Amino acid sequence: MRLGFLGTGTAIPSARGASGYVLEAAGEVLLLECGPGSTRRWPAMGLDFARVGAVLCSHHHVDHCGDLAALLFGRTVARPEVHPGLVFAGPRGHRALVDALVVAFGDALVHDDLTVTELDDGTALTLAGFVVRARAMAHPRRNADEAPALGYRIERGGRAVAFSGDTGPCDALVELCRGADVALMECSYPAARETSSHLNGRTVGEMARAAEVERLVLTHFYPAADEADLAAEVRSAGYDGELVLAQDGLWIEVAR
Ligand SMILES: [Zn+2]
Ligand SMILES: [Zn+2]
Repeated sequence: MRLGFLGTGTAIPSARGASGYVLEAAGEVLLLECGPGSTRRWPAMGLDFARVGAVLCSHHHVDHCGDLAALLFGRTVARPEVHPGLVFAGPRGHRALVDALVVAFGDALVHDDLTVTELDDGTALTLAGFVVRARAMAHPRRNADEAPALGYRIERGGRAVAFSGDTGPCDALVELCRGADVALMECSYPAARETSSHLNGRTVGEMARAAEVERLVLTHFYPAADEADLAAEVRSAGYDGELVLAQDGLWIEVAR
């Protein structure tokens, strides 16, 4: 299994695309997040509609799902060869989001042949051959009815990737990451920016240390994070395993 980075930034315009990752194994492809700009990198990363079996989103902030409309439009207009059984998956409300995109942008976003699947805290399902388990994370919601942002544990062939989505520090993240081969965690801000909605250079290190992570990969960098010495901040928080600061276009092998 290998993990690729289509976008490691946020919705703030920068050289980084917004959130987008790809998991690839045995010829099958699961897209993780679909933030603005992340689909621009599909061709360079060897992706097309025929290969992508599922698109999984963590929550409904625009930096994680803003390119879904472009994807729907692209497959309608370009009439590409499309993976049979393409699935869009995300938290409760995902179906309503896709329907709202059609209302907003018109009938070119036809998705009659698309399966839209919703996950909640504790849901386990198989997407494009990858076993996905969802956990509710600690990230702001507009109201109590809105589904929580989800983190995912994604497993295949005895390997596991844990993905934080967007979250502040929480026990569920520690549980999600424990024993994973790769812990892919957001690191929105430098340590000086205190927040309970996201992780910063200190709290991400504390989470990784608590989960006894062996290989920590950081992503979801706001511009202020790019100006900080995140590696030093993570180390001074007590994390001493392998550390990677992701860049758009990177591929890493998920192995022990
Ligand atoms: Zn968010
Ligand atoms: Zn975000």
